Amino acid sequence: MTTHSPASAALFARALTVTPGGVNSPVRAFRSVGGTPRFMASGRGAWITDVDGKHYVDLVGSWGPMILGHSHPDVIAAVTDAVSRGLSFGTPGEGEVLLAEEIVRRVAPVEQVRLVSSGTEATMSAVRLARGFTKRTKVVKFAGCYHGHVDALLASAGSGVATLALPDSAGVPATTTADVIVVPYNDIAAVELAFSKYGDEIACVITEAAAANMGVVPPLPGFNKMLAEIAHRNGALLISDEVMTGFRLSRAGMYGLEAAGLDPVAQGWAPDLLTFGKVIGGGLPVGAFGGRADVMALLAPEGPVYQAGTLSGNPVATAAGLANLRGLNDTVYAHLNETANTVGRLVSDALYAAGVPNRLQRAGNLFSIFFTAEQVFNYDDAREQESFRYAAFFHSMLDAGIYLPPSAFEAWFVSAAHDDLALQQIADALPAAAAAAAS
Ligand code: PLP
Repeated sequence: MTTHSPASAALFARALTVTPGGVNSPVRAFRSVGGTPRFMASGRGAWITDVDGKHYVDLVGSWGPMILGHSHPDVIAAVTDAVSRGLSFGTPGEGEVLLAEEIVRRVAPVEQVRLVSSGTEATMSAVRLARGFTKRTKVVKFAGCYHGHVDALLASAGSGVATLALPDSAGVPATTTADVIVVPYNDIAAVELAFSKYGDEIACVITEAAAANMGVVPPLPGFNKMLAEIAHRNGALLISDEVMTGFRLSRAGMYGLEAAGLDPVAQGWAPDLLTFGKVIGGGLPVGAFGGRADVMALLAPEGPVYQAGTLSGNPVATAAGLANLRGLNDTVYAHLNETANTVGRLVSDALYAAGVPNRLQRAGNLFSIFFTAEQVFNYDDAREQESFRYAAFFHSMLDAGIYLPPSAFEAWFVSAAHDDLALQQIADALPAAAAAAAS
């Protein structure tokens, strides 16, 4: 089924002896599509090259950060310049002020921001802060939304709507998830029910600004606004997780799309806290959380909510993130939208031509294909798809030099560097891949 990749196979064999599953993050292991993960050696523009010297059009983009394409000259120059001045000081530095200012300037509800080193740290800290601010413990989250590997947020729905959650991973105590209520995405009635049962115990609702970790499932019009209203009516906070969507979907992420009037129902609302990652690191480890100044004021050293990090605001990482953000302008966003539209349509049309029912779903320039004819509103819907078709599709594309997410439940990422050549290579690969998915 797959092309011979001897150098990747040899590295994977060595990795398997020294690292669990041979990878440092599970989805990279190809478990849901089978075969040997490709070990990448370099990337430039829309292309990545593996250790066997094979080139691929990259539709993963390091899961989001590489929005300008790989090895963008401005990002590389900024990193090289920062490296030449030292790697880390453990003191404040100019880069973190510049990056914080850039974030605050772009996202209206963010009055203050704290930098961390991953999206997981951002959501973990935001939840702690919401609990500290409200002096409450319970958290409402949505089934199928991923917020990193925070203990409390690795929670599945218990039986019945709006019941206390069960651990989604070994090693997470049931006592930890007992404070979490998991409800179906896009289901306002379930959120209302959770608040009617536990209203004065709920510290916050945390939601992906647009769900993109069960495949892409955009919020229904007005959904995020309703979450803010319900939370605020009950004295709770809304945390909007923009780790994936932030600065990708627009200058101000998904919030920017909704507040810009594309979804008029959403005018006049704001989350209390937002979390970021990926794009703001440009490929180096950066996360951030920010929002209302009165809430952020509770963070140490100003307030009693402890939060810290040896490498938080690292000068090299902030230089990369700043250069990445500065490269994002209206022309780039227009290109990303158009490219996402083109690739999505090409894939969907090829599958239909091969007789494979599918559904293209988008949130701005993030998109994914579900192997079902039905619209997907939540995690249960997403799991209804014929995901077994994805493995054959994926491997056919991989053989043809297109690197897709190695799971049917992940978003696809385009970059500013995806050009006509890359699109043509995708188009050429699709008929065979669609036929493979059909069989
Ligand atoms: N939140 C969302 C919406 C994500 O998509 C992710 C990662 O994919 C995270 C949080 C966790 O970020 P990280 O992997 O940087 O810890």
